[in-house]
Amino acid sequence: MTETTEKRIKASEIDPKFKYEISKMHGGEKIMRCFQCGTCTSDCPVARFSDTYRPRQIIRMAQLGLRERVLNSDTLWLCAACFTCTDRCPQDVEVASVIRVLRNLAADRGIVPQVFKEEASSILESGYAYRIPELRLKKRQTLGHPPLPTGNPQSIGKTLRKIGFLKCVEKKGS
Ligand code: SF4
Ligand code: SF4
Repeated sequence: MTETTEKRIKASEIDPKFKYEISKMHGGEKIMRCFQCGTCTSDCPVARFSDTYRPRQIIRMAQLGLRERVLNSDTLWLCAACFTCTDRCPQDVEVASVIRVLRNLAADRGIVPQVFKEEASSILESGYAYRIPELRLKKRQTLGHPPLPTGNPQSIGKTLRKIGFLKCVEKKGS
């Protein structure tokens, strides 16, 4: 299958209710106002350095009802949540919030990039998002730096469980 064929939209992929679903969620209310001017993409600092990340395209896919494509898209997770797009959209679309809504919908189905799942499990283990290598900790000691503060993974785990976050990262993507 060629790349062009893969990108072709099939009628069976379209879910006309998707945009209404998004517009009922906090931050997604104005999605239907987007008229595809492209300001969000041209001002997005991530799009500037990516050949694939285009917030305008994400909004359009959501408007068209391409639920599976947009929720399974890796680029959905590239947004840095800087809110430049939201500030500059002439139609007042809360672009960054729509992206958050879409990420939440994806996460509800366990569609979360592996790197974030690993970060979550590291937070649960140590309280740190990044596993600090032993070697680095020893180096700190030899340089006379104080030990790093210890995290409180139990308390973090309790909170993450309560808000349903753990269920999302433990789920296998569907
Ligand atoms: S800036 Fe606003 S209206 Fe323009 S493409 Fe982006 S979301 Fe749509
Ligand atoms: S919030 Fe996300 S989509 Fe919007 S400008 Fe920043 S990085 Fe780009």
